[in-house]
Amino acid sequence: MNIGEKILLLLKEEISEIEYSRYIKHLIYDAKKSTADTAIFYAPNNLVLNWIKNRYASKIKHLFEVHHSLHVNVNITLKNQAENKKIEIKQEQKPQQHSLLNPSHTFENFMVGGSNQFAYATIKSVSEKPGILYNPVFIYGGVGLGKTHLMQAAGNVLQNQGKIVIYTTVEQFLNDFIRHVRNKTMERFQEKYRKCDVLLIDDIQFLSNKEGIQEEFFHTFEALKGIGKQIILTADKHPKKIAGLEKRLQSRFEHGLVADIQPPELETKIAIIENKCKINKVTLTRDIIHYIATVIESNVREIEGILSKLHAYSQLMHVDIDLQFTKNVLKDQLQENRANLTLDIITQNVAKDLNIKPSEIRSKGRSKNLVYARRIAIYLCRELTQNTMPQLAQYFGMQDHTAISHTLKKINELIQNDEDFKVKIEELTNKITSSS
Ligand code: ADP
Ligand code: MG
Repeated sequence: MNIGEKILLLLKEEISEIEYSRYIKHLIYDAKKSTADTAIFYAPNNLVLNWIKNRYASKIKHLFEVHHSLHVNVNITLKNQAENKKIEIKQEQKPQQHSLLNPSHTFENFMVGGSNQFAYATIKSVSEKPGILYNPVFIYGGVGLGKTHLMQAAGNVLQNQGKIVIYTTVEQFLNDFIRHVRNKTMERFQEKYRKCDVLLIDDIQFLSNKEGIQEEFFHTFEALKGIGKQIILTADKHPKKIAGLEKRLQSRFEHGLVADIQPPELETKIAIIENKCKINKVTLTRDIIHYIATVIESNVREIEGILSKLHAYSQLMHVDIDLQFTKNVLKDQLQENRANLTLDIITQNVAKDLNIKPSEIRSKGRSKNLVYARRIAIYLCRELTQNTMPQLAQYFGMQDHTAISHTLKKINELIQNDEDFKVKIEELTNKITSSS
């Protein structure tokens, strides 16, 4: 594997699978023409070229620096016109980085809501007074909820102040450890990790059942903590719940401050999407943003994939991104995410929200409340599952599909004319899809 291919593999670890397979995978490194100052890559078409140029060129440059100490200019050219048309990528001058931090993972780019407020406040305060307030800070929560982003935001702040920041995943730490053991250079390993001012270790759950590395990690941890260096850790669960983790590590992790991140509420998701649109220079209407917010259940990482997918489709098909187009493009995503939603689950959620019994929703009762609840349940069942109108008629004890279609029409009218009702439906959808 040549150096360019290695760099692209490192990049792969940091971006979504969709983006990797749509863009980065098609990039070809020219090992013959590249030099110590210039890395030459070929892109198959303009779309891929521009996307990579705007979003990844500086990152690729950064990876060369961090992993191979090479200060290269990254040249990306179109494959066919490679010979006569070279496009120089202008690099912003960034302060030299010692660690692999994503420069766009900043506090400014992090949207705060009830779900992540505590973790945010904790990390923010630690970035202002490292090593003094809480040490270590342990952030835990599900995939794609912003743990890495937050810890790196602190890393970026401290690094810009000239502190030595090391960011590593447990896996990288382990690989580094093995390599130094093999090369008999353990002192170098220990020196490297114990010399830093701030140590960020991501995905601590992978320490599980790996005794050798837990031992080494313990000593690194103690050494750093002993001299007041800040340590920030993340994992997908609370330290207590990580099986196969030594007791002494577990208690050290809990000693500072443990903060969780929950799945974002609708408002936060909307803010995140708006922010990502701004960063990626994509313009979407409010309707589309709300729609995307309800499609993604919790994993915020999906947002970038969705934006790039919309962007790519609209470019390839020469159409503007409108709501119907968005719905079509995201159809698969929606079905995949909601495959486990059933009519029962939806009905139970609606009943709970409106404070009535699920059986009443499916009864023949005609009181105003019940009719209202039933209509909402039918609408959501139609939107969120693949059931046909006759199937819904049967489930809700209605005569036939025309009764269902009448109900859907009524609800659609309400949604169009009544903003409060529309918000209510959005919130309910969000509640149902994120609880499943
Ligand atoms: P985790 O480490 O928890 O799996 P990441 O930190 O990698 O998640 O976040 C996944 C993506 O979602 C990143 O692109 C990150 O910038 C984005 N993200 C997550 N939460 C937020 C937020 N609150 N505001 C802005 N972006 C967010
Ligand atoms: Mg992460």
